Amino acid sequence: MSLKGILEIRRTLALRLTLWYAVVFTASSLVAFFVFYVVISNVIQRRTDQELLNDLSEFITILELKGIDAAKTEMDIEAGSDGVGKIFLRLLDPSGREIAASDMSFWKGVGPGRVALRRLIDGESHVFETLALTERPYRARIVYGTVAPEKILQIGVYLEEDARFLAAFREVFMPTMVTIVLFSAFIGWFMARRALSGVGQVTQAAVDISGGAFERRVQVRAKGDEIDKLAQAFNRMLDRIHALVTGMREMTDNIAHDLRSPITRIRGMAEVTLTSGQSLDEYQALAANTIDECDRLLEVINTTLDISEAEAGAGKLKRDRLDLARVLRDACDLFQPVAEDKGIRIISEVPDDCSISGDIRKLQRMVANLLDNALKYTPAQGVVRVSLRGEGERVSLSIRDNGIGISPEDLSHIFERFYRCDQSRSEPGAGLGLSLALAIARAHGGDLRVMSTPGEGSVFTIHLPRSPFSS
Ligand code: ADP
Repeated sequence: MSLKGILEIRRTLALRLTLWYAVVFTASSLVAFFVFYVVISNVIQRRTDQELLNDLSEFITILELKGIDAAKTEMDIEAGSDGVGKIFLRLLDPSGREIAASDMSFWKGVGPGRVALRRLIDGESHVFETLALTERPYRARIVYGTVAPEKILQIGVYLEEDARFLAAFREVFMPTMVTIVLFSAFIGWFMARRALSGVGQVTQAAVDISGGAFERRVQVRAKGDEIDKLAQAFNRMLDRIHALVTGMREMTDNIAHDLRSPITRIRGMAEVTLTSGQSLDEYQALAANTIDECDRLLEVINTTLDISEAEAGAGKLKRDRLDLARVLRDACDLFQPVAEDKGIRIISEVPDDCSISGDIRKLQRMVANLLDNALKYTPAQGVVRVSLRGEGERVSLSIRDNGIGISPEDLSHIFERFYRCDQSRSEPGAGLGLSLALAIARAHGGDLRVMSTPGEGSVFTIHLPRSPFSS
């Protein structure tokens, strides 16, 4: 592996997790090992002490029942039975003078412990001590106990076996620890790599996407874990970005398309007038047409800007106290001549007043757009019904017509900018009216819904809070 590769691994989360895991695992093993060692040492010592106490009480019985001579014989037998130099027994008087003893040739330097004798005289039933022996490698455990009046028995055992057992235990410690460290590092590395493999996938997807693969998504492994949730959130974010980018691209295309037609028309007229036009009238007609087309263009541009402004939210709205019922009545009056021209009846079911707060000019525009559509897409003899209801803190207004209706396929697109259904292309319009109405409703904290049946008519309903700016 190259130096760069090694440096990169050094910075990885996987390595840090592995090290943490190995350190924690090793430290816990060390503590467990230490506690186990202390417990084992104590158990061994307690077992040795218990055996010494058993020997003491055995000699108390022998002295009581059989006398001092039998006790002396028993001391020799006891000392020989465990093997040479393994145990000694010595009978002392309270001053430490030896009365009798087993073979003491292996126990040089072991005298009567003055402190132990003093404690016995002070009333303790028995006293333990651990001694290092001058000529032997292991230590001895000694017990002193009063076995008869003026007689103290000292029993010592050589701790070779116990010490060897604990040494063997210590000897396996190092190799075991090394194995544990290596094993824990391996397991830690394995687990960290497994856990982080999903993060690697997300990173790779992000790299691919920034390299141009915009359709790329992270594979969700259906385990329901944190990585899956990250992948799902990441994919959702990508879908949203994709939808926004596509929407913006479509909108730019639409704007370009909508600007191209009038500009092409203006250019065509100017060219014709320039090449064949002779009279002042023709030049005046050109100027009038150019103004018309420019007005249409300005209308499209201004409405697009109005939609963007409304979509910016409530921040840009005026906060007037207004009567929505009056706004609706005025709109009906305004469109009455158009309706009459088309032979359409406008029925207004609006209460005397309905007070809300909002931006009156924007709300007038929203209502006008919906009413204009209803009249545009309803044939002669049709009926347009405008109704308003206030329900507590919310009001709902609806504009219903019995016109051409909207197909289910178109219904999900009509609120998109520049979208126009095929059947309505003969009517004037740029496909921005509903986008603006929806943006205004939302900016007021409300919503705009539509229900429609082709051939039967449509109903557009707006729900608005009475006080959109109170919170
Ligand atoms: P336009 O300027 O084309 O009316 P809108 O955004 O107001 O743009 O409407 C988008 C499309 O929705 C219209 O082109 C029309 O096809 C359809 N539409 C809107 N209102 C109605 C309605 N009341 N009845 C039938 N179709 C409608």
